[in-house]
Amino acid sequence: MNAQTQTLNPAPALIDPFGRHVSYLRVSVTDRCDFRCVYCMAENMSFLPKQDLLTLEELDRLCSAFVAKGVRKLRITGGEPLVRRDIMTLFRSLGRHLDSGALEELTLTTNGSQLTRFADELAACGVKRINVSLDTLYEAKFRAITRWGDLGKVLDGIKAAQKAGMAVKINAVALKGVNEDEVERLVEWAHGDGMDITFIEVMPLGDIEPQRLDQYWPLTQLRARLLDRFTLDDVDYRTGGPARYVRVRETGGRIGFITPLTHNFCESCNRVRITCTGTLYMCLGQEDAADLRTPLRASADDTLISNAIDEAIGRKPKGHDFVYERGRPTVAVGRHMSVTGG
Ligand code: SAM
Ligand code: SF4
Repeated sequence: MNAQTQTLNPAPALIDPFGRHVSYLRVSVTDRCDFRCVYCMAENMSFLPKQDLLTLEELDRLCSAFVAKGVRKLRITGGEPLVRRDIMTLFRSLGRHLDSGALEELTLTTNGSQLTRFADELAACGVKRINVSLDTLYEAKFRAITRWGDLGKVLDGIKAAQKAGMAVKINAVALKGVNEDEVERLVEWAHGDGMDITFIEVMPLGDIEPQRLDQYWPLTQLRARLLDRFTLDDVDYRTGGPARYVRVRETGGRIGFITPLTHNFCESCNRVRITCTGTLYMCLGQEDAADLRTPLRASADDTLISNAIDEAIGRKPKGHDFVYERGRPTVAVGRHMSVTGG
């Protein structure tokens, strides 16, 4: 679709039963990863058989069906998206929706391990912003959290992304007793390099016990700790995601807080997620899902897939049920974050 046909014939909006406009799609392109972060994966994960995955062409078709229905932002995630073979083929083909103006933004969430290799190509495909996950600046701690990640490679990857002209935002999971003592340092480091940083509360996803609840550190406490060092001014800035932002007077940079547990953000939720097998999750914190792979494979025409998307959005729930009560999650979701995509 070119920009002109789009203006004449605007894409229909996806509106859920609570009046929320679904304009943001997160796509997990693989469940595999070269790290095993303790809050995300078990050490011995069994991954999906390759034949269950959508091909890159199928992923492109599915994403394009959402774009045709008015999705304006696509975020590619995983698992680690950059370990999927030939993943740049998908970025290159999705770039056409940026060129046409149908898509406003194509972004990526990555652990950064492969960025030195891919940064230039990503930028060439029209990716302007990426999120890199990094919870600590200490090498040994980084290895302990990720089980076998190399901090130096990730830092080099961040530099490569910046050099390629992409804005980098750091995502850090707030981990009690793990990175509690370095949140100020993380903020100063990120802001010193021109990056925003977002802190995320650990969510009860996947069966990765025993330490899940030991890791939970509410962002209300993290924020209180930051206030001892910094002056935080609330700002209106939004990126389409769930983070609420403040600006740090001393550094001039922004900090985002993603607080699914201490502050429920469902009322403004504009997003849905698809897994690498073509399952659509209407909510990160609910089990209800729709199989889009079957209609996708049943016909080369997009009518079936379009109907399946409409039907699923009609079932988007009002909100999630994550609650930690008396130290226990009352409802945990059995699938891992690496399946649904962060
Ligand atoms: N591998 C990429 C990465 O790490 O950025 C993309 C996928 S990862 C699942 C996306 C985000 O989810 C990361 O920022 C990660 O820290 C976060 N994450 C994983 N498990 C989580 C959990 N249980 N609670 C909160 N955030 C989690
Ligand atoms: Fe891999 Fe990202 Fe999960 Fe860490 S958070 S194990 S990098 S998918």
